Amino acid sequence: MGHSEPEDVDVVIVGGGPAGLSAALSLGRARRRVVVVDSGSPRNRFAAHMHGVLGHDGMSPLALLELGRTEASGYGVRFIHGDVERARADDGLIEVDTAAGGIRTRRLLVATGLRDELPAIPGFREQWGRGVVVCPYCDGWEHRHDVIGVVATSPRSVEQAQLLRQWSDRTVYFENVVGAASADDREKLARRGIRVEPGAVDGLRTRVADGEARVTGVEVGGHVIEVGVVFTGPTMRPRDGLLRRLGASTTATELGEWVEVDDDGRTSVAGVWAVGNVVNPRANVSVSLGVGSLVAGALNADLVAADIAALTP
Ligand SMILES: Cc1cc2nc3c(=O)[nH]c(=O)nc-3n(C[C@H](O)[C@H](O)[C@H](O)COP(=O)(O)OP(=O)(O)OC[C@H]3O[C@@H](n4cnc5c(N)ncnc54)[C@H](O)[C@@H]3O)c2cc1C
Repeated sequence: MGHSEPEDVDVVIVGGGPAGLSAALSLGRARRRVVVVDSGSPRNRFAAHMHGVLGHDGMSPLALLELGRTEASGYGVRFIHGDVERARADDGLIEVDTAAGGIRTRRLLVATGLRDELPAIPGFREQWGRGVVVCPYCDGWEHRHDVIGVVATSPRSVEQAQLLRQWSDRTVYFENVVGAASADDREKLARRGIRVEPGAVDGLRTRVADGEARVTGVEVGGHVIEVGVVFTGPTMRPRDGLLRRLGASTTATELGEWVEVDDDGRTSVAGVWAVGNVVNPRANVSVSLGVGSLVAGALNADLVAADIAALTP
């Protein structure tokens, strides 16, 4: 775009995952001028199938996003590929730097998701989203007949093991570097038949079947415990650099400092909104679709109020 004037729109959405696309669909249908800027790395891109999303159970996560982009495009939503690292307030508007040049927008909606930081155990990265997973509701059913291994990353991993016992009565809790569970936790694990395996986990055993490496065991203390899948708890890091550089205030949570939003998705920065995993670690795909639509409605109402105020003498 060179030195040409920045283009003006109603809403720039940064992030085209389920939350951003759901908002884009509603705002496009509300006849807003909407641009979505997306770098194309949604959190669940490692998984071949998505579960627990009504009407789309078992669908590929990337296919859902493709469908969403097609639907939103039908209402005039424009897409730009790339990262947005910076935006600044400019005379009541927000100027956003994109790969296609500067865009001035009345509102900015940040839906950039989060990054999962995996424990540094050999094989975890390669198996992420297939043989190493996080969410019982997404992958528990598929492994109900397997031995389920839970590799601890924090004292809260005991809860994850107790939860997974609902799916398989052959659940093994690997204490890993977190160390011994408390006597009370051990007693409760034993009561539900959850085996406890002490020692730091050294790696995974896999076997190639149908051209794919499948997890068959967990290596610990020089021996191998057979499992069909590993659940673990990665550290969740919100992709909130853009929001923080804009000065959005944060709040302390049990997962660290997260950007704060009100029930409608407003941040503390005028005109800047946020939705989905970037502000809510508990937002699965269904929740992200829901809150995307909810925030879009609130954002559109906010724009209508501004339109009224602009006409008020
Ligand atoms: C392995 C795995 C499997 C999962 N399986 C399921 C499942 O079966 N069912 C389920 O309900 N949930 C599942 N989830 C959770 C699901 O991934 C999240 O609920 C969902 O992705 C959250 O949507 P979002 O729109 O907030 O973020 P995302 O889907 O992560 O989308 C964010 C988008 O923003 C883009 N972006 C980030 N930063 C920038 C930037 N600076 N500029 C431009 N673009 C940017 C990213 O490239 C990405 O496209 C799974 C998660 C994992 C890790």
